[in-house]
Parts: sequence; structure tokens; C-alpha cells
Amino acid sequence: MYEQLALYIDGEFIHAGRQQQDVVNPATGEVIGHLPHASRDDLDRALDAAQRAFAQWRRTSPLERSRILRRVGELARERAHDIGRHITLDQGKPLREAVAEVQMCAEHAEWHAEEARRIYGRVVPARDPAVRQMVVREPVGVCAAFTPWNFPFNQAIRKACAAIGAGCTLILKGPEDSPSAVVALARLFHDAGLPPGVLNIVWGVPHEVSSYLIESPIVRKISFTGSVPVGKQLAAMAGAHMKRVSMELGGHSPVLVFDDADIETAAVQLAKFKIRNAGQVCISPTRFYVQEGVYDRFAERFVTAMKKITVGNGLDDASQMGPLAHERRVDAMESFIADARERGGEVLLGGERLDLAGGKGNFYAPTVVANLPAEARLMTEEPFGPIAPLSRFGEVDDVIARANSLPFGLASYVFTTSLRTAHKVSSELEAGMVGINHFGIGLSELPFGGVKDSGIGSEGGQETFDGYLVTKMVTQV
Ligand code: NAD
Repeated sequence: MYEQLALYIDGEFIHAGRQQQDVVNPATGEVIGHLPHASRDDLDRALDAAQRAFAQWRRTSPLERSRILRRVGELARERAHDIGRHITLDQGKPLREAVAEVQMCAEHAEWHAEEARRIYGRVVPARDPAVRQMVVREPVGVCAAFTPWNFPFNQAIRKACAAIGAGCTLILKGPEDSPSAVVALARLFHDAGLPPGVLNIVWGVPHEVSSYLIESPIVRKISFTGSVPVGKQLAAMAGAHMKRVSMELGGHSPVLVFDDADIETAAVQLAKFKIRNAGQVCISPTRFYVQEGVYDRFAERFVTAMKKITVGNGLDDASQMGPLAHERRVDAMESFIADARERGGEVLLGGERLDLAGGKGNFYAPTVVANLPAEARLMTEEPFGPIAPLSRFGEVDDVIARANSLPFGLASYVFTTSLRTAHKVSSELEAGMVGINHFGIGLSELPFGGVKDSGIGSEGGQETFDGYLVTKMVTQV
């Protein structure tokens, strides 16, 4: 059993009568579903529905928006197992990770339900006592969002809750490779009583759909999660039409392990965190800088922990890491490792495709590489897979400079028991998020976002609605 894939336009699920795309299980290579693509007429219908719905939805009381978001959260919890199972089928991650993703998303819905009641304006004291000056925040209008395949439920629900909670309406294109979660999301909102047209789901050829929606005068705001190059293209297009953007883009997260850290704990926790979702996580630790005094001990412990990871079909209880989400990620891993070997890197573990499921699954071994020069592709491009490159450092200023040397600035991690080091490093790292001795990033109550090439804006935390609101000043005598 797999999700019945559909478009969702103006409150109606559309399953058939459209050009279709096969959806493949990355663990087995089997075709598990057929995804209908939106025609031009469908996109126009979605635009029209979102525009009409906005006229009403913007006037809906925050209490009503909050009620619907809360119900979405309840339904997500009730359906977490089924939604999670479908994510494992079309995305590959282990079932417990997929179910946990949905449960965490129930919290996102609840957080937005609470915060939607606190979108405040302000009264500014006037120079003239007869004047009343007010600042109000209003929904920006119809939004278009594009979400990726690595956390297919999480990335979509965060955008949907932020837009809808702010009083906007939304056309969302999810990931065609792993679409079940986004269809399930539409069902949650539908069943929670969201009026037709407030949320619309479309599928198609990504650049065709995105350029059509971004160029439409109906759309006032663009939100994208995905790679830096695509983010820059979409932001440029939005800029040409003077539209607001939120961009959650890739990173290349440095991990700084200092001599005074608890090395045993750091090595084990980092291995677990590294293989989460097979490393296909924008905040995955991807550049490991380890201080000279503990480098050998850390490398040994980390490789031992990575070696213990069981790789297999995500539906199998024993699997701690599933396949990569699609074949092109396996090709990417092979090309990173070929480059690493050419540049004299030492592969301490893995470095190869795994022949599971008769060679039909996209399995790649947990991999550790050492002694790479700074210009190796693994040290400069986001690997987005289960590969960890290790590198030595001596002084704190040197490692901060190396960590900050790339154009990315999403997450970064520090392992130290020194308050002075923790303070210095967290102040000087160019990153949107810093985890010190743990990985508590991505929680509903905290802003999630990057600086530099890693993006614009935050999702979550009290900042979550900022990108979906415009500020209006009213002065009255
Ligand atoms: P990609 O850049 O082609 O696609 C990434 C996502 O963007 C996909 O979901 C895709 O459907 C969408 N997309 C691509 N072109 C688009 C367009 N013109 N308009 C709208 N959406 C578009 O790469 P990929 O092979 O699918 O993924 C690999 C890379 O993507 C990784 O190296 C990683 O950097 C990045 N990525 C980042 C995140 C993240 O959370 N920041 C998530 C997924 C992928």
C-alpha cells in the first residue's frame, strides 16, 4: 500500500487524466506509484483559486487559523505511522526516522497554531496628541513554495503552516521523487477544514512550474528549500519581478572538535548524526576539523562507530541507514570519492556502493576520508550523503578561518568543555545556527536558517511568520 498520489487544487484531489511520472522505491528500484503532473490549465486554476481564497482567508480570525493548524497537528500524530511508511517507501529513510519526522511536524503545526495568535502590530506615540499612529502587519498575499525530497513532510509543513498561519494562501510544488508526504499533508489540511484554495499542491517539471508561478502577477512571495544554485536562480527570477523570497539552501557544516572535548561521546554522537537520513540533510556535519592532540583517538572512535552502522531497506527494523534517495546521489558520492582519491585522500572506511537488493537499491557505504587538501571537492562542495571528511587543526583562530572560508553559512558544531572556546567560536563562526556539544537544531521554537549563500530568512521560532507578512503604517487624525 502506498499513498494515492494527486494534485490538490481548489479543495479537490485530482488523481487521473494527466501526464504521469513514475515514483520509484530507492531501496528496491520498483515503481510504486504514478504522479500526475499539472497542466497549464491546472496551474492557472491553482493561481485563480489561491487568489480568490486569499480575499477571504486574510480576514479569517487568527483563532480560526489557529484551530485549523492545531487540528493538522493532531491528525499528523494520528497518521504518523502511515505517512512515515510511505516516506520510507519513496524516500528511503528508516521507518523510525520517517515516523519521527511526522511526529516532529505535528509540533511544528502546534507551534504555528500558538504563534498565529501573536502576530502583533504596535502603536507609536505621536508628536501631535490628536494623531494616532499604528503599525500593522498584514499577510503578503498568494505565495508559491518549492520543497525538496530529503525531509519531504517537514519542509512542506513548515512552509504551509507559516503561510497559512499568517493569513496567506499557498501553491506548493513538492518533490516529484518523493511525493507521498506532500499529498498526505494536503489531506491533513483538507480534513482539518481548511477552505478550498488556501492550499494547493501541484507537480510537474520543476523549472517549468517554478518559472510559471514566479512570473505570475498573482504570486507575491516565493519560498524555496533546496540547493544553492537552484535557490539563486529562483531568487533572481523573483527579484526581477520584485517579489519577496525565503531561501533555505544548502550548507557545508563544519564540526570543530577541540582537545578538551569529551571525545568518546562526540565520536559516537557524531557518527549517529552523520548517517541520519543517509547524510542527506542540509545541516549534516560535513567538514570534521579535529584538534591535533585528539585527532588519532577521535578518528579511531569515529570510524569504529561508523563501521557499526547497519545499512538496509528502511522498512527493515535492523536498518540504521537506508538507501540514498535516488540514483543521482550514488553517482555524486562516487564522484566525490574519485576526486578524494585523486588528491591523495585516505579512505578510512567505505568509499563504495553497496550491493544490496540485487544491486537495484541506491545503497552507499558509510564513509570516512582523511588527509584531504582544502581544495578537494569534499571540503568545498556539500556532499549530501554519508561521507565524513576528517582534517587536523592546531590553533583556534586557524580553524575558525577554515570553517568560515566557504560561501556557505548554515549550521556549525563545536565540541569543547571550555566556556571561553565555546563563547569565542560561537561568536566568530559565520553560520545561522551553532550547536555546542549537541545537535538541538530544527526544533519548532527555534529559528532555522542560514547566512551567506545558505539562504535568506528563518523558519520556526518567533521569526516564522516574518517572511509572510508585510508592514503597513497607518496614521490617523
Ligand atoms: P536539485 O538542486 O536539482 O534539486 C533540489 C530540489 O530542488 C529538488 O526537490 C528539486 O525538485 C527542486 N528543484 C530543482 N530545480 C528546481 C527549479 N528550477 N524550480 C523549483 N524547484 C526545483 O538537486 P537534487 O539532485 O535533487 O539534490 C541534490 C542537491 O540539492 C544536494 O547537493 C543539496 O545541496 C541540495 N538539497 C538541499 C536541501 C536542503 O534542505 N537545503 C534539500 C534537498 C536537496
